[in-house]
Amino acid sequence: MDQTITTQDKIYIGGEWRRGRGADIASHFPADGSLNAVLPGASQEDVDLAIERGQDAAHDPKWRKLLPHERATILYRISDGIARHADRISHVQTRDTGKTLTETRALAMSASGTFRYMAAALETMEDTLTPSRGNYLTMSVYEPLGVTAGITPWNSPIASDAQKVAPALAAGNAVLLKPSSWSPLVCLELARVVEEAGLPAGLFSTLPGAGAIVGDRLVTHPAIRKVSFTGGTETGRDIARKAADKLMPVSLELGGKSPTIVFADADLDVACAGVMFGVFSSTGQSCIAGSRLFVERSIYDTFVAKLVAATERLRVGHPFEAATQVAPLIRPKHRAEVEAHVERARADGGKILTGGERPAGAAYADGTYYRPTIIEGLDNASRLCRDEVFGPVLAVLPFDNEDDLICQSNDNSYGLASGIYTSDFPKAWRVARALDTGTVWINTYKQFSIATPFGGTKDSGLGREKGRDGIRAWMAQKSLYCDLSQAPHPWAKGAL
Ligand code: NAD
Repeated sequence: MDQTITTQDKIYIGGEWRRGRGADIASHFPADGSLNAVLPGASQEDVDLAIERGQDAAHDPKWRKLLPHERATILYRISDGIARHADRISHVQTRDTGKTLTETRALAMSASGTFRYMAAALETMEDTLTPSRGNYLTMSVYEPLGVTAGITPWNSPIASDAQKVAPALAAGNAVLLKPSSWSPLVCLELARVVEEAGLPAGLFSTLPGAGAIVGDRLVTHPAIRKVSFTGGTETGRDIARKAADKLMPVSLELGGKSPTIVFADADLDVACAGVMFGVFSSTGQSCIAGSRLFVERSIYDTFVAKLVAATERLRVGHPFEAATQVAPLIRPKHRAEVEAHVERARADGGKILTGGERPAGAAYADGTYYRPTIIEGLDNASRLCRDEVFGPVLAVLPFDNEDDLICQSNDNSYGLASGIYTSDFPKAWRVARALDTGTVWINTYKQFSIATPFGGTKDSGLGREKGRDGIRAWMAQKSLYCDLSQAPHPWAKGAL
């Protein structure tokens, strides 16, 4: 299999491929540390240029006056283009992030589906006729905001990029995308597809670069009318504060410490597979990772023993190998952080049931591998149960009854997702309604549909993405009143 990657030395700014004027960004292959590319990142001047071009393009009647079904045609072409280039996109993303090729292919197809869904939603989106309180026609309509921005993290770039770019364009805006410096390459593939699809120049730019320079400029620039951010909670809070200053809407998809719950009446094979997939797929580098596991005490020992044995059979390996289930972590620095979490858990009295170390052997020596790790013996208030690790590390805890379980599950600053395994549907329903998380999976985990809204509660974020209303979050609502009487207002009687 060809595992090389083309050196990319330009970024897509305002409809042109140009050398970025910011600091260089190096992308390395996490499986062996080899260099993928050095990319000249965007500078503040590049951001300003992209904004200026975005403003011109967003207000150009050629775009502004396109009817929704005409705009949708371009989005369908982008969807087709991503599907057509899915092999290349997934290859680049695997080189850039170390994710398995199976996963990056699924992410590329998900991005293609996102553009297709948003095109269909756009074509069928309706303005609303509102009940009139007089001889008026009253309507609520939705209009583009202008120039908008998406800021994304490194863990699933093409999918999270599409979740921002597709609804932003569907809504009729220009959108500037800032990917993470740890995964700068795949957004350039998206730019090629967008260009090939014939999106008017200036409506889309990709601005890889430092968060403190490129990201900050996007958030604080007066012409940017909305920012959709996916990333860590502290960065999200900082963005929200700056957005408050200019009264700009933001949507924030942030971190998580999601509870997974296994009741004694669950199908234990289904639960075991689901728990492992929930926390160890993507090598745990997932905002929704089910990283706190609550097991009903009567089956605790049996289930945990089964889970540990199955976890030890997971195949840790090279991202281009089809059999690999757990690939390397993104960077040495990130692995060091994951290791520090595990060492803290050990120091706090946690017992490592499996993992807790790098895999041994020459095949792993140059990559940022880490073994799937299960830790017990810590309570829900421990640092391991509070902090987002963003790696393949699971804390397991017993629970005694439903009240105890709900209390422990909700006693966390995050509220992104949760999972329940049980064969008792009324109980699953009851618990699902009591859990304070944006998504609850029952007898499954990490399943997604672009048609279903996604977002978190508490420190996990603000606002919802996806779903039909996902487009409206990128639009300004306007109310229209039209008098049908054609008679002068009675208030002015006698004055005319
Ligand atoms: P991060 O917050 O460090 O960075 C995210 C993005 O923000 C990057 O593009 C970064 O360059 C940019 N950024 C950094 N500082 C900025 C600033 N001051 N102003 C503007 N932009 C700035 O997060 P990360 O390490 O890239 O990603 C991991 C985090 O993302 C985890 O906490 C994870 O839970 C979260 N995440 C959440 C979701 C979700 O949908 N809720 C999905 C994926 C990842």
